Amino acid sequence: MRRPLQPFSQATALPADVREALEPLGVTTLELAGTRTAPDGTNKLLLRGRDGATIETVIMRYRDRVTVCISSQVGCPVGCAFCATGGMGLRRNLTAAEMTDQVRTAVVVAAEDGRRVSNLVYMGMGEPLLNLQAVLDSIRVLTDPHGLGLSHRAVSVSTIGVPGGMIRLGHAEPQVNLALSLHATDDATRALLVPSRFRHPISELLEAAWEHFSITHRKLLIEYVLLRGVNDSLDDARRLAALLRGHVVTVNLLEWNPVSQRALPGGESFPASFRPSLMASVVAFRETLLASHVEAVVRRSKGAGIQAACGQLAGRAAEWTDGKT
Ligand code: SF4
Repeated sequence: MRRPLQPFSQATALPADVREALEPLGVTTLELAGTRTAPDGTNKLLLRGRDGATIETVIMRYRDRVTVCISSQVGCPVGCAFCATGGMGLRRNLTAAEMTDQVRTAVVVAAEDGRRVSNLVYMGMGEPLLNLQAVLDSIRVLTDPHGLGLSHRAVSVSTIGVPGGMIRLGHAEPQVNLALSLHATDDATRALLVPSRFRHPISELLEAAWEHFSITHRKLLIEYVLLRGVNDSLDDARRLAALLRGHVVTVNLLEWNPVSQRALPGGESFPASFRPSLMASVVAFRETLLASHVEAVVRRSKGAGIQAACGQLAGRAAEWTDGKT
């Protein structure tokens, strides 16, 4: 896919009558409605669907790779307490074409300064495993040599924990990485973060994760957002180590990015506010995991200044008053 958004009229390899027939269909399902760039080079794209729904896609530039973080739903039905997307509720699922077109648009934006998209994460707005068939269809296109030709191993799907979906993903795409957003080491603490309607016991989530590993033999990524006084104590770290010890995992310790406070769905009461962990707690948490032979990495957020970091995507077009910047 060397010119991913080229109009059909310019696809001269196709016969004229085919070009003419394809032209009215349009080359993409999404219109680029705005872009923002953070000081670290991260781009946030605002994309508008044909029905006017807006979603966000993030391009993260590293020295050795460019990762695109795409949305799988408009909003999200789950409603995690620490996440801006969760405050929106679910507007609708995205189609496979809309997921593919987020990446195609990102390819064009990254190419403007000579960068090539190499990695893809389904970690933007929405819970991918609640829209799994469309996610699988988009992975098939994006990894096809005639599509974007991404390596399956460079694709990761992140979930808050949908056990059946985790296992189905493993069977359907055994080379794709799974990231499980655990965020707590006991069910009572997790109940402060994830609403009950979509919350499964930690034991059930890990059972599904180990089954996923037995199918795929891919290292499991555990996402753990550190919240001061909520889940960042040394006891939490020891409990996490005990849950994961002996398994092939990497724990990604994430700094929490403040989102504006909001009313929560379902009448559940979450803590009034969260605060990011202190750096000393982050370091001690990681060292406790490492001492128990559990691999752990501190992931610094990219794009926080433009609300493009984990849990900050909300697709609110009204906040994009500056349009394409
Ligand atoms: S963290 Fe993920 S699953 Fe939870 S509300 Fe946000 S987008 Fe949805």
